[in-house]
Amino acid sequence: NVQELEKLETISERPSLGGGSRILVFVRLRPMAKKEKEVGSRCCVRIVNRRDVYLTEFANENDYLRLKRLRGRHFTFDASFPDSTTQQEVYSTTTSELVEAVLQGRNGSVFCYGATGAGKTYTMLGTMDNPGVMVLAIKDLFSKIRQRSCDGNHVVHLSYLEVYNETVRDLLAPGRPLVLREDKQGIVAAGLTQYRAYSTDEVMALLQQGNQNRTTEPTRVNETSSRSHAILQVMVEYRVKDDAKNVVNRVGKLSLIDLAGSERALATDQRTLRSLEGANINRSLLALSSCINALVEGKKHIPYRNSKLTQLLKDSLGGSCNTVMIANVSPSNLSFGETQNTLHWADRAKEIRTKSKLQAYEANEEIQYMPESETDHAKLLLEL
Ligand code: ADP
Ligand code: MG
Repeated sequence: NVQELEKLETISERPSLGGGSRILVFVRLRPMAKKEKEVGSRCCVRIVNRRDVYLTEFANENDYLRLKRLRGRHFTFDASFPDSTTQQEVYSTTTSELVEAVLQGRNGSVFCYGATGAGKTYTMLGTMDNPGVMVLAIKDLFSKIRQRSCDGNHVVHLSYLEVYNETVRDLLAPGRPLVLREDKQGIVAAGLTQYRAYSTDEVMALLQQGNQNRTTEPTRVNETSSRSHAILQVMVEYRVKDDAKNVVNRVGKLSLIDLAGSERALATDQRTLRSLEGANINRSLLALSSCINALVEGKKHIPYRNSKLTQLLKDSLGGSCNTVMIANVSPSNLSFGETQNTLHWADRAKEIRTKSKLQAYEANEEIQYMPESETDHAKLLLEL
C-alpha cells in the first residue's frame, strides 16, 4: 500500500559517478500552477518515495488505493523530486558531483527535458530569489575553487548560446547567427563570447539577460519560444604539474542545457513553416537521443553531425563525460499525455544505462502496469 511504498528507501542516495559514460535520470514534479487550479485540474502525478513516481488519471488517495492495479503506472528513477523540493536539493543531488569532476578536468552535461511549462527553465535558471542549477553550479564552483587554491590558478569562462530552428546564436551578444567550425579542440561556434567570470554575483543578472535574448514567437513576444534550446557552457581552465613535472593546462567543461519543449518532437507531418521549425526541433531532440543511445551501447559511429545541438555537445557527451537528465513534469491531469511521454522517455534513458552494465535497479515487483497505450512519440523514441 501507499505507506509501505513510501517507506521504501533509496538503495543509495545517489549512484556515485565513476569513469565512463553513464546517464543518471531524475524526475522533478513542479507545484500545481494557479491557472491549473482555477480550471479545477486534478493532480495526476505522485512522488511515492524518493525514487518512485506514480502516474494515473485518478490521483486522490482513495482512487490510488482502489485503482492502482488497474490504471496507474509506476516508474523508478535515480531520484524523484516532489513539488516541495528546493532548488538547492535538486542541485546537490543532480549536479554537484559533476562540478567536482569538472574541477578535475573532466566534462559533464545536465539536460532538462519536458513539455513547455513543465519547469525546465525554472530548474535550470530559476528566479532571482530562487536561483536554479546554472547559478548554483557556478556558485559552488567558485567556492570549491577558493577552497582548493589561493594562487588564482583557475580561470572560469562562460558561454551562453541558443539553438533555434537549427541556427546557433550567442545569448550574451545577440547578433548574427554563429557558424560552427571544427578545430583542434573540437566543434566551436566562431566568435562566441567567452565571458570571464570572477564571482557569482554578476552571473545571475548575466544569465537572466541572456535568457531575455532567447527567440520568442512573433505572437507571444514575452515568452521564450518552446522551440529554443539554451546551452550554458562553463569552462574551467587550470594548470597542474604532470608526472614529468611539466606544467600543463587542463580544461574541464560543464554544459547545462534547457532543452526545447518535448511536445514539439512529434510535429513532423505538416508542410507549413511552423512544422519546418517543429521538424528541426525534432531533429535536435531525436539526434540527441540517438547519440546517447549510440554512446552507451558502445557504437563506433556516434551521429553527432545530425543536428546543431549534438555537434555543439560533441565533447560533452562521450568519453569521460558524465551525463545527467532531469525530466520535468506538471502535476495537472491537463498535461497527462505530455507527462506520460516525458516519463516514458526518461524511463528509456534509464534503460540505456542498464544496458551498458552499470548498476541496475530492481523494479518493484508488486507493481502491475496499466495496459500500454504508447503514443507515437514514445514508440519513435523507443525505436531509436
Ligand atoms: P518550461 O521552461 O519547461 O517551459 P518554466 O520553467 O517556465 O517551464 O515553468 C513554468 C511556470 O511554472 C513558471 O512560471 C515557473 O516559475 C513555474 N515553476 C516551474 N517549476 C517550479 C517549481 N519547482 N516551483 C515553483 N514554480 C515553478
Ligand atoms: Mg522554458
